[in-house]
Amino acid sequence: MNANREDYSPLAAETVVRENVPLSELTTMRLGGKAKYVVEITTKWEIPSALEFAKKKGLPYFVLGGGANTLGRDEGFPGVILLMKIRGIDIVDADAEGFLVYGAAGENWDDFVRFTVEHEMSGIECLAKIPGTVGAAPVQNIGAYGQEVSQVIDHVEAYDTETGEFVVIGRDEMKMSYRSTLFNTGPEAGRYIITGVVFTLYDGNYEPMEEPLYASLQKHLEEVLDASELEVYAHDGYPPKVLYDGVSAIRGEKLPDPSEKASAGSFFKNIYFEPSDEKALALAEATGCKIYDKADGRKMLNTGALIEKAGLKGKLLHGMRVSDKAALVLINESAKSYADLAAARAEIADQVFEKYGFKIEQEPVEIGKEI
Ligand SMILES: Cc1cc2nc3c(=O)[nH]c(=O)nc-3n(C[C@H](O)[C@H](O)[C@H](O)COP(=O)(O)OP(=O)(O)OC[C@H]3O[C@@H](n4cnc5c(N)ncnc54)[C@H](O)[C@@H]3O)c2cc1C
Repeated sequence: MNANREDYSPLAAETVVRENVPLSELTTMRLGGKAKYVVEITTKWEIPSALEFAKKKGLPYFVLGGGANTLGRDEGFPGVILLMKIRGIDIVDADAEGFLVYGAAGENWDDFVRFTVEHEMSGIECLAKIPGTVGAAPVQNIGAYGQEVSQVIDHVEAYDTETGEFVVIGRDEMKMSYRSTLFNTGPEAGRYIITGVVFTLYDGNYEPMEEPLYASLQKHLEEVLDASELEVYAHDGYPPKVLYDGVSAIRGEKLPDPSEKASAGSFFKNIYFEPSDEKALALAEATGCKIYDKADGRKMLNTGALIEKAGLKGKLLHGMRVSDKAALVLINESAKSYADLAAARAEIADQVFEKYGFKIEQEPVEIGKEI
């Protein structure tokens, strides 16, 4: 912290500012040079002055949550990181149909999910253990094990950086599809700084999730539950806690825990294409990988399966390990720099393209790179 607060004008005296902070400390892939300033946002009222601070210094800004879907680059970020730390969870409304539940942007996502599960709410229990914050969840429409936040977000509260106003954005305005929303795609990407999210959740006692469950989740539950329990749940639906625990157990086996292993989760996006795309269909069939029919009418090919088929699963490339449990995940075992990661990424993408003709796309965003 700099002793001279005048340097930080117009930030309030209580706003925490840090200088020259390694991006490797702010992102779960643990790479990247230093950020010039990190401003901690603990109330939404600090946002306008943080943006004004950046403007006064003539610097760009970047909004960051837990850094679980974000990469730091070697050149660092010569700008201002707004680190979202606004806290608070609240049941806003409850009626016979369910609940409206608010989570502040800086709340840890899994803490929020656990809160809802402890209150026997259904709707996000399969999104257990996804690293990161509540505020980032709508940005790329997080999803796992058959649930996506697009199904349950009622609205977000945000700061509009174009008009300088606090606004409410309803679910229908968010243009949500697989890993893509108004917040990260198209002309309005980056325009809104989300301060809180309100979810519509079901009462898990009356409207629990029903079969069919995501195949690997169903298989896991069949292994760990008694036949009598399975019979009841198949008939009445699955209590949120059963699904939360099931997903947590599967994830614990398959995915790296960011506190132990550096990664950004799925490093590549799955491949979505229209059923009318004959070229993609032919390529997909030629790979022998399973093609999934998605609820939005598109087809999906699991990029991890392609990487595995290309013989890359478990390989160590430039210090990055292609996970031997989930080939979509890259683990930073000994990469010294972002350049190492970029070299590994290029090798994987080139090999998949040469073998199967599919261009695969990176999922995490990069601090300081134009969207
Ligand atoms: C081990 C592991 C497993 C994962 N598994 C999954 C999974 O199953 N499903 C899935 O969907 N994702 C998964 N991810 C990715 C990641 O957890 C999610 O994308 C998560 O939402 C990132 O949250 P974050 O707070 O860390 O976001 P950050 O990485 O900090 O930010 C991500 C993006 O959102 C923007 N952003 C962040 N906060 C705000 C805000 N308040 N307002 C506006 N913009 C904001 C940032 O500018 C950036 O563009 C996984 C990651 C890891 C490391």
